[in-house]
Amino acid sequence: MKPAIHPEYHEVEARCACGATWKAHSTKKELHLEICSNCHPFFTGRQKLVDTEGRVQRFTRKFGATTVAARKAAADKSKKGASA
Ligand SMILES: [Zn+2]
Repeated sequence: MKPAIHPEYHEVEARCACGATWKAHSTKKELHLEICSNCHPFFTGRQKLVDTEGRVQRFTRKFGATTVAARKAAADKSKKGASA
């Protein structure tokens, strides 16, 4: 290896938002992940929305929850308003 051009390579603790930790190697000081093989639906076999860090919740709080039913109701209302 050529000296003084390579970043430091440490053993770090990789941490997932689900709480799982394991040892890994990285040039970063720490690894913080949102999803890992312990909690990803592909590996768990469960079909569910993965929102361990509350990102979806934060989005709905900021922009309001828009469900398909609510959007349809709004579209119906505007249609009725236009025709009347
Ligand atoms: Zn995880």
